[in-house]
Amino acid sequence: MTGAGKKEVHRRGGLWYLRPMKKIRLLTPGPTAIPESVLSKFAEPVIHHRTSLFEARFKKLQDHLGWLFQTREPVLTLTATGSGAMEAAVANLFSPADEVLVLNLGKFGERWTKLAKTYGLTVHELVVDRGSAADPAEVKRLLTAHPAAKAVLFQASETSTGALNPVKAIVDLCREHGVLSVCDGITAVGILDLPMDDWGIDVLITGSQKALMLPPGLAFIALSARAWQAVAVSKSPRFYFDLTREKKMQEKQQTAWTPAISLIEGGVESLGLLREEGLQTLFARHEVLAKCTREAASALGLELFSKAPSPVLTTVRVPATFSVDQGKAIQKLMQEKYGVIIMGGQDELQGKILRLSHFGYCDVFDVATGIGALELALQELGHSVEFGKGVGAVLKAYRESSR
Ligand SMILES: *Cc1c(COP(=O)(O)O)cnc(C)c1O
Repeated sequence: MTGAGKKEVHRRGGLWYLRPMKKIRLLTPGPTAIPESVLSKFAEPVIHHRTSLFEARFKKLQDHLGWLFQTREPVLTLTATGSGAMEAAVANLFSPADEVLVLNLGKFGERWTKLAKTYGLTVHELVVDRGSAADPAEVKRLLTAHPAAKAVLFQASETSTGALNPVKAIVDLCREHGVLSVCDGITAVGILDLPMDDWGIDVLITGSQKALMLPPGLAFIALSARAWQAVAVSKSPRFYFDLTREKKMQEKQQTAWTPAISLIEGGVESLGLLREEGLQTLFARHEVLAKCTREAASALGLELFSKAPSPVLTTVRVPATFSVDQGKAIQKLMQEKYGVIIMGGQDELQGKILRLSHFGYCDVFDVATGIGALELALQELGHSVEFGKGVGAVLKAYRESSR
């Protein structure tokens, strides 16, 4: 499908370009941009995993992961995307007919429910208005109503709506009621503070293509001592995702199966970069980028969608005068004409919201560029835009927060 004038994506020199040449910029909630020093690791020869060389590299990754999760428990590395670690949690913690509670804020909350039902669990959901976070009082009601429940499965940050859950309050309630807190931190670990051991989170999960600045393909999961006790009595079937077997192997810097060796090499580099930045600086950076994005949205007359906005991604409503088709066209235009990839809404939110991500290998200039492309697209689709107003708001918010 080549042809004059066709805005086709092609690959050259390791970077993606549009024709005429435009860089592709990922401002999506995974996959995210990857630092150059990490990319260069993928050009290196693959070492064999049953070697001391691999074990030394893996040990380094494990050490970085413990730092990132703020835990002394082993953080297990699985070759899968984040959903694989979610499945591993369900398959290893419970037995068929167990009851669990799910906080359903959006698409990823729904994934917990589907997974739990697949393993024959009985699910009681708290369905939250799209864009809102779970109210601790409602969580408490749910826990009280279902005293036989074994766990609460929830997201720290619901990527489909941009809502941020009150994680600490949820975890505290779980402890009070003697149930496990199982936290999908896939778009939270490495973005905002989730001290696993201090808060007593029982299961914490993340994936490589989010804040860890890696390609998709690795998932990470850590379990508290209480969670490991649940694993010991769980009778659900599992094979590839048998966490007991993985733990035994990973204590010896080995994996049960052939791991994604190159991604592990990349992870040593990318987590090293995050560690040099330091946890507090990392969290502060994401706070600032979120503030810049929110200020820009407001300067462009776009209403925030999420009532519990997060430092992870900013969701905004498309202009009120826009039809669903025009709403979808914003994202399409930004992508096809300007090479800036953002996400729109999913399911019933299609064409109604825009999701602007600002985590991972992302700085204020990435945000300013994204907002610049958004200004162009909105103006082209008939929204009244004074060029530079959004970009100006980004720079102003940045300057104010970095004095
Ligand atoms: C991306 C994401 C996932 C997992 O998605 P995968 O495609 O399996 O990596 C799960 N939960 C949240 C909150 C996410 O953002």
